[in-house]
Amino acid sequence: MASLLDGRSLAAAIEQRLTDAIRAGLDQAGRPPGLAVLRVGDDPASGVYVANKEKACGRVGIRSLGAHLPADTPAAEVQATIERLNADPAVDGILLQLPLPAGLDEGPLLRAIDPEKDADGLHTLNLGRLLKGEAGPRSCTPAGVMALLKAAQVELSGRRAVVVGRSILVGQPMALMLQAADATVSVAHSRTRDLADLTRQADVLVVAAGRPRMIGADHVRPGAVVVDVGIHRRPEGGLCGDVIFEQVEPLAAAISPVPGGVGPMTVAMLLVNTVVAWCRRHGIEHGLGDLVP
Ligand code: NDP
Repeated sequence: MASLLDGRSLAAAIEQRLTDAIRAGLDQAGRPPGLAVLRVGDDPASGVYVANKEKACGRVGIRSLGAHLPADTPAAEVQATIERLNADPAVDGILLQLPLPAGLDEGPLLRAIDPEKDADGLHTLNLGRLLKGEAGPRSCTPAGVMALLKAAQVELSGRRAVVVGRSILVGQPMALMLQAADATVSVAHSRTRDLADLTRQADVLVVAAGRPRMIGADHVRPGAVVVDVGIHRRPEGGLCGDVIFEQVEPLAAAISPVPGGVGPMTVAMLLVNTVVAWCRRHGIEHGLGDLVP
């Protein structure tokens, strides 16, 4: 039986550390940290995600300074809003909630975010910093996976890691972070031949393919650590991941559940990026370095 990589309880512990860090730095900064979640249009799932992020901000003492623009807002106006947030001294983190309405190109808008305020860690400069091992905000989901692995004391140095998925959002930065932790990393994608043969070699398997329940017992070596990034609404209700939990759990040494695994960690790392940016701007020692892979 696998031990659970419990993202919910780890995220709560990180929130407590952030609450303490904000309290300790408040006098020196003269203001709380601020996170602006910018939402354009009315994608219903985005509405839930934005509400969750704003609630999490409230719990730790980060001010939510977001804006919600109508779906037909011209790109120039979205860009002007981003520039206003870039210039706003009360804002430490900016997040452009994706997906954008059809007709808005996310590339130029993501690039318009001040890299020092890039709460999602997805700006080209910050991905480059990750590649080079330089400090900067890190992509939230893979940083959350690294925190889960660290909390469970999963040894990475010299171990074989396989990442299924090569998106800029998850797979690519995940592979870089595992490699920076001295794992030997392979990345699988939709053209990979004999996926199960590759994933069975993994000591640590991170699945971010966006395909419901595609990884079963045949894909996993007994004793492997399995992290399931996928999240899907099931037609019959409830959520599932990319991994068939009931097949893999009896085999694995540790596994992250869906929900309650990577999801809460992604939100926690968004808060970490915001608080670290706030500390940096005000010259505050934060002691959160272990959360920035
Ligand atoms: P993308 O669709 O952008 O990328 C999916 C990747 O998986 C691609 O690289 C694709 O390969 C690869 N892939 C697809 N099918 C297969 C297959 N059959 N075998 C091997 N590889 C395959 O998704 P994201 O990276 O954005 O997200 C992945 C999942 O993680 C989704 O379910 C998403 O909802 C979830 N997610 C969860 C988060 C959380 O907080 N829990 C946060 C972010 C995402 P190719 O490049 O060849 O197309």
